[in-house]
Amino acid sequence: MERKQFQAESKRLLDLMIHSIYTHQEIFLREIISNGSDAMDKLAYTALTDDKVSVDREKLAITITRDPQNRTLTVSDNGIGMTKEEMEENLGTICKSGSLSFKQDMEKTEDVDIIGQFGVGFYAAFMVADKVTVISRKYGEDSAWKWESDGEDGYTVEPAERETAGTDVIMTLKADTEEEKYSRFLEEYELRGLVKKYSDYIRYPIRMEVSKSRLKEGCPEDKPEYESYQEMETLNSMVPLWQRNKKDVTQEEYESFYREKFFDYTKPLRTIHFSAEGTVSFKALLYIPGRAPYDFNTKDFKAGLQLYSSGVMIMENCGDLLPEHFRFVRGVVDSQDLSLNISREMLQHDRQLRVIAKGVEKKIKSELKAMLENDRENYEKFYGVFNRQLKFGVAGEYGVHKEATQDLLMFYSHKQGKLITLQEYVDAMAEGQEKIYYISGESTQRLGKLPQVQTLDNKGYDVLLFTDEVDEFIPQTLQTYAEKSFCNAATEDLGLQSEEEKKEIQEKAEELKGFITFVKESLGDQVKEVRLSANLGDHPVAMVPGPGMSFEMEKYMKRVNPDMAFPVDRILELNPEHPLVKAMEGAMTEEPEKARDYAKLLCCQAQLMAELPLEDPVAYTDLVCRLVQG
Ligand code: ADP
Repeated sequence: MERKQFQAESKRLLDLMIHSIYTHQEIFLREIISNGSDAMDKLAYTALTDDKVSVDREKLAITITRDPQNRTLTVSDNGIGMTKEEMEENLGTICKSGSLSFKQDMEKTEDVDIIGQFGVGFYAAFMVADKVTVISRKYGEDSAWKWESDGEDGYTVEPAERETAGTDVIMTLKADTEEEKYSRFLEEYELRGLVKKYSDYIRYPIRMEVSKSRLKEGCPEDKPEYESYQEMETLNSMVPLWQRNKKDVTQEEYESFYREKFFDYTKPLRTIHFSAEGTVSFKALLYIPGRAPYDFNTKDFKAGLQLYSSGVMIMENCGDLLPEHFRFVRGVVDSQDLSLNISREMLQHDRQLRVIAKGVEKKIKSELKAMLENDRENYEKFYGVFNRQLKFGVAGEYGVHKEATQDLLMFYSHKQGKLITLQEYVDAMAEGQEKIYYISGESTQRLGKLPQVQTLDNKGYDVLLFTDEVDEFIPQTLQTYAEKSFCNAATEDLGLQSEEEKKEIQEKAEELKGFITFVKESLGDQVKEVRLSANLGDHPVAMVPGPGMSFEMEKYMKRVNPDMAFPVDRILELNPEHPLVKAMEGAMTEEPEKARDYAKLLCCQAQLMAELPLEDPVAYTDLVCRLVQG
């Protein structure tokens, strides 16, 4: 018989399993049972979509058999089964479905402890067994196959017998050691407890022969005698978690369900369990994850909720149930109003589905809002991971979804030194303040020092510091929030000057016309315009973009879509009250060369403050040296 080897990655995972020192080895049972349950789901699903397949749902069950003599524990199902090829493919590699994400995490952490919290699947059997035999017959096939492995030394596949379709996983338990009594997995009490603990909500009966005792027939009433007998018993309650009463479900149960179902070993940040009555009634169990799946930003990621109709899964990832801006939500929806015989195509256009989707969106929004208000710490964690999704929700599709997400956004407040919502910004606006000020750049520290921000700060006005490149799309899309318009402090008129002050600066500009022209000529094409500004506080100069686009947006476009990017006009603003500017003006007639050098120096400084690269850093350094040397 031919012996085949495992794939390299599988081998690594297997080694981890076999030599696992993990204390929660008991989770192997949950994994094997859940595979059996999946296999029955698949069969039931095939029957829904294929007329040639008929399944008696009532008969679908998992059976646990103990054989202490041979030290084997067998988990059998009458699900869809596997062909020879499927066995080799599925059991010989781990690069399948959820296991993949596990593998990737594993590569990063090598942390054996995450095993127990993770859906590691079939290979978990090797934590407790030194030999695993799988006998399977695929639905609709005549022959069965036997796969066998000790984990270490490859596996074999050979023909076998099995009366009906389904799979038996036969685990020969490891010998007991000082630390670990593997034989406990043959004890009725232990197994019953494990099924209750990990697999209670599995929707198919999990059955096992258990010993019971009864009164011996014919014995006298005053001298009762008992005899023991064996009877098949269903160990699990079979009620899916989401069908149970909220008050009867523990946080632990919610969390372990989440981990197992969605392959995430971190705790969800919020669990949302609710039901809706109406034209379409449904129950939903949703989770706000605490981290993004590794493939979240790739097209491989399948967003959507699992869809059930009266406890039967009819769709694995129903994308139509989640709007794009909440695509990070995981969970299940179950509605008895959906027809079981619905085909996938029809589902997509189903009116009932739209009703459910609406209810789901509303609920997610209100829960996130509640989290924002009452559980800020977790909300900030969530926001740290998924803020972009919410921002795209506001800015995407020309803002049609902004109502759902604008209240959930947070930005860094210069004044408060933390993230705040737009509403919180508006509520804290100073007397007389009309606009929502923002400015964008690479870091909040740097932005906080910009002259425009300082000018606003001196007035007692807060500024939102945007450091994510998509942030600027928000004010562009919203235009106003709570009837206040947005103002880009770097590019727009801050609106701080009275008519009188404006007039004053105009007069000043008129007066200094010759000087302004001189500066512009000294700088040539480096700047589009030179003008005076009263917004620069203690700073002599600032570089601001021409109307339309900010420097941040220019950088963003250059990176994301270089063909479409074009340079933004640079405007140099001068503070006529600053001594350096005054000195430059004074030098203009006496020492024009020196004044020109001043102009160039100030222009470079303005560029640095605006986080714009210098075209010629060497020339800048030479210039500074020349000026310092006098
Ligand atoms: P996962 O369940 O995460 O896909 P597993 O390692 O547990 O990973 O299983 C790998 C694959 O083997 C499954 O996806 C399934 O196709 C197949 N498989 C495992 N157990 C069974 C079973 N009892 N019946 C049918 N197929 C099974």
